[in-house]
Amino acid sequence: MRDVRRQGARAARVVLALAVLGSACRPGKDASSASAVSLDDPAARRTITERLGGPLVDHHVHILGPDVIRDWRAVGVNFSRPDSTYTSVAAWMASRGLDSTHVQALVLVPMAQLYGDAEFVEALKIDATAVQARVARENDHVAREAAQHPTRAVALCAAPVLADFAEAELVRCLAHPQTTGIKLHLAASGVDLREPAHVTRTAALIAFAAAQNVPVLLHLDTQQRGTETTDVRAFLDRALGPVASLPVIIAHAGGSGGYGAWTRSVLRTILAWRDSVDALGPAPRPVYIDLSAVLLDEPSEGVPASTTEERAALRVDVRAAGLDRFAFGSDSPVFHPLQSAETLRAALALSSKEARELFSRPVPAFFSSVDARGTGRAITRD
Ligand SMILES: [Zn+2]
Repeated sequence: MRDVRRQGARAARVVLALAVLGSACRPGKDASSASAVSLDDPAARRTITERLGGPLVDHHVHILGPDVIRDWRAVGVNFSRPDSTYTSVAAWMASRGLDSTHVQALVLVPMAQLYGDAEFVEALKIDATAVQARVARENDHVAREAAQHPTRAVALCAAPVLADFAEAELVRCLAHPQTTGIKLHLAASGVDLREPAHVTRTAALIAFAAAQNVPVLLHLDTQQRGTETTDVRAFLDRALGPVASLPVIIAHAGGSGGYGAWTRSVLRTILAWRDSVDALGPAPRPVYIDLSAVLLDEPSEGVPASTTEERAALRVDVRAAGLDRFAFGSDSPVFHPLQSAETLRAALALSSKEARELFSRPVPAFFSSVDARGTGRAITRD
């Protein structure tokens, strides 16, 4: 789908780190501010949580290490809240008025892939040794944060996909007791789906996850002009085709925020791919899609607020596919998890039973590997 992109066309890489991450996965404006409901009021938070079917299972929550905060600042990113609300689960939850009655389980996602972006690294003027050290420190910080909340949080491990040290770093990070899977961010890693060597490299890390029996959170969209849905389909065949039992969550409905034409076509490509492989295999693929940052209540760095038509299109597409293909993620701390869920509930016109199915259901592999390794205990109900 040439030239149908990009709803997130960025203004000339004004702020480098924002361009690195796209509209999703970065701090900045508080997306709850345009809310139709006030999340400042404890009674309102309670009412919304009840409407959502109970406390959330959030598969996509970013916690930032001090290096990332410092380095982002160094390239001009402004943070709208105190550092601790980005670096600490406890401070983040307190700042948003959240406790276990609102959120029952969290997957914490590091931003270590940032150090895979050549321009970011160049702007920081750091060498390869420093890059590797910062990736490790970012992963360690997030793993330690998860360990502070052993009954509620697990952590993923991230690494720049194309870095020589990626697999070694993932092995090292996965040794943390509270890490349960890996995060691959193709855009920040500089992956081009039209480049065979990049696809081979990404597929190798996905095969590594399968061999380690740990799930993958995948930011699939590479944000590179000229990529076609045929490239996406070929990537899915190549990278996910061979790993039939690997649990995968594809972030942001396959895009990078918003539900414009490109993201819609990628989501349809993913769903069609799953239909085709499910038809051939003995069991449905455990490949899920998170809808974090897909509906925006206000414009967010190059991505306009979601239109009525986009909300309706998402409702049509999600309902046609079936709620069981989706997992909840909020992309916090950019977004408030209750606000993200409430926006989706309204747009998708979910019944209370459906809301509970979408917002309270864990993808078990992200949580159960802690139990399987005997280092934690069950986090989620059932
Ligand atoms: Zn994210």
